[in-house]
Amino acid sequence: MKTNQEYLDLDKQLLWHPYTSMSKPSPHFLVEKASGCEITLSNGHTLIDGMSSWWSVIHGYNHPAMNNAIQAQLSQFSHVMFGGLTHKPAIELAEKLITITPTDLQRVFFSDSGSVSVEVALKMAIQYWNTQGQPNKQFFVTPKSGYHGDTFAAMSVCDPENGMHNLFTGALTKQLFISPPPTGLNEPVKEEYLNEIRTTFKENHQRIAGFIIEPLVQNAGGMRFYNPEYLNQIRTLCDEFDILLIFDEIATGFGRTGKLFATNHTHICPDIMCVGKALTGGYMTLAATLTNDKVALGISDNDGVFMHGPTFMGNPLACSAANASLSLLSEYNIPEKITQLETWMREALETCEQLEQVKEVRCLGGIGVVELKNALNLHEIQPKFVELGVWIRPFGKLIYLMPPYVISKKQIQILGKAIYQVASELPH
Ligand SMILES: *Cc1c(COP(=O)(O)O)cnc(C)c1O
Repeated sequence: MKTNQEYLDLDKQLLWHPYTSMSKPSPHFLVEKASGCEITLSNGHTLIDGMSSWWSVIHGYNHPAMNNAIQAQLSQFSHVMFGGLTHKPAIELAEKLITITPTDLQRVFFSDSGSVSVEVALKMAIQYWNTQGQPNKQFFVTPKSGYHGDTFAAMSVCDPENGMHNLFTGALTKQLFISPPPTGLNEPVKEEYLNEIRTTFKENHQRIAGFIIEPLVQNAGGMRFYNPEYLNQIRTLCDEFDILLIFDEIATGFGRTGKLFATNHTHICPDIMCVGKALTGGYMTLAATLTNDKVALGISDNDGVFMHGPTFMGNPLACSAANASLSLLSEYNIPEKITQLETWMREALETCEQLEQVKEVRCLGGIGVVELKNALNLHEIQPKFVELGVWIRPFGKLIYLMPPYVISKKQIQILGKAIYQVASELPH
């Protein structure tokens, strides 16, 4: 038997964690179990979860219905190849996804992670134009401050400065970047912004396959909320210049912004849409790329086939978890439940606005953001949150909450107090 400290020492020695140094690893906390909205560390310390484990565990940990669904599938089979074979969990999930997403989206491609679903979306767009006799349409337009994942094509459409472009110059496709959408959900639409897009489209449409954007909220690129009217206008511009519109709903999907999808805040439909993160309620890794008949059937013109096929495509355990998660989601009253969560977060976070250190507090659906004036040092801050009994992982200038939907008002209040205390102790 190893001691907890021995495990942690081995972790430091052997394991890479996200975006960390091997020679100067940041502190990590050993988890023993998790249940509801609480994570219990091996030292017995319990943390209230404000992160939903990167926005995915929307029903909380160790949910009986989720566990049962996965166990039931496990007793049938945990995996079969998706080439030549198919199964009910995948078919049922595809049917559900098509029902709950905007109507034009009628065809589903399953993959293992969000980044891969973005790769698939970009490949679909390029292949579509190829079969339509426009092989030069290979590039993408995207706003700065976006985040679409860590694989190569996904990276190429991430923010060029905060993203990883400087490390991979030359290896990354040079995409066309426009300014980030002006922030403010209710701010009037700026014509000059739309003109910038129009000019980019006009000058380059012969080589543009698609426009990719996170609808309503740019998430990992800065938790920036913007007016959904931009998306309506972008749809019109895309149609005018024969450019496919791709929505990355990996962070915003399944209720996070107060509607089932961020797209539901608009009156348009993208040609291709990516979902992931909360798709399985955070129980298994799974993502999906949905598209319309135009793209799906277009790719199939002239005996074309879509060229992608991951080993674990449509994994039955993951599909079963997703089916169970969507059933739970359909039992909540989505606008009401998330509006309630938004109200609680607003109440819990608004006192932070009085702090010298804080620039702005903003909330939307299940997202609560305290934006600081200066970037903070995560290594110093993380242990303070743990001491206060909460799991909150800030980045850059942002301390934010994206809690499980089942969190209580009291737990939100504790998270809010912890943020206030930690922010108030920052230098200013
Ligand atoms: C997290 C995220 C991704 C990448 O998903 P992974 O599962 O981490 O590969 C892509 N796009 C958005 C908007 C995300 O939030």
